[in-house]
Amino acid sequence: MANFVLQVPITLRSFTVSASSNSNGAPPGGSGSGCGGGGGPVLLELPLDKIRRPLMRTRANDQKKVEELMDSIAEIGLQVPIDVLEVDGVYYGFSGCHRYEAHQRLGLPTIRCKIRRGTKETLRHHLR
Ligand code: ADP
Repeated sequence: MANFVLQVPITLRSFTVSASSNSNGAPPGGSGSGCGGGGGPVLLELPLDKIRRPLMRTRANDQKKVEELMDSIAEIGLQVPIDVLEVDGVYYGFSGCHRYEAHQRLGLPTIRCKIRRGTKETLRHHLR
């Protein structure tokens, strides 16, 4: 499967997913799509402040790990995107806590995400 990465300018506050690939070749449902839950993952650079982190797990991060990641990300960039759930146009992050904090502490405006679309039920499941 091929994926495309869309670079989002720092100043851009409103954006849409414009490219992706999934098993049937159909678009993930950009603006105007009424379908929920379908399509494969999309790789996209998201502004850090667009990702809600309801579990606030950043507090429990291993600071040594974060600092090692900061050094590595500064040198070679993020090699593995963080997983993000999109529900009704809102992005939620439940993992990738060390990579997220490393980006925050490096002052990077965006982070590369692997975005899967889900329903409110998927979200409730993550929040349990
Ligand atoms: P996180 O809470 O972000 O998942 P972990 O320490 O559990 O933190 O895992 C770090 C992850 O970051 C690993 O999956 C590793 O492959 C990935 N990674 C992505 N980019 C880098 C990088 N530049 N240097 C080191 N690890 C990286």
